[in-house]
Amino acid sequence: MIATIAELREIASRVTDPEIPVLTIADLGILRDVDMEGDTVVVTITPTYSGCPAMDAITEDLGIVFKESGYDNVRVNLVLSPAWSTDWMTESGKTKLEAYGIAPPTGTGHRGPVTLGMAVKCPQCHSLNTKELSRFGSTACKSMYQCKDCLEPFDYFKVLS
Ligand SMILES: [Zn+2]
Repeated sequence: MIATIAELREIASRVTDPEIPVLTIADLGILRDVDMEGDTVVVTITPTYSGCPAMDAITEDLGIVFKESGYDNVRVNLVLSPAWSTDWMTESGKTKLEAYGIAPPTGTGHRGPVTLGMAVKCPQCHSLNTKELSRFGSTACKSMYQCKDCLEPFDYFKVLS
């Protein structure tokens, strides 16, 4: 079986984030590289931060999707540097996240001592009149917000750099 790298990447892109099933690992930007070494598919991913321990599930799912496509040997390399940041999330990923009811990260992360506060948009009514309820939402990578216009609480996917 001969597959192009693009085809292998397409297969790997079927794997979704276990916590946010509408987002594929390609949408999240954690799928770095897919290659073939002999008869082994080598997938390189950069994990999101340790608060989102989804890597075991993603590694397992990669094994499953490649086996379904006829590849029995899969190796997953985790590359920690450069560290994943929410900037790597694709625009289509951000759109899907918002449609799912989670406000996508806005702006870019900042490594200096001054952090730039960006208004978080309500995924329900798109109002920017929102407030943070809690730094920690359902998982460590999200925080809990509430819209002051429609009063809906929602998760915000924190900017990480
Ligand atoms: Zn709202």
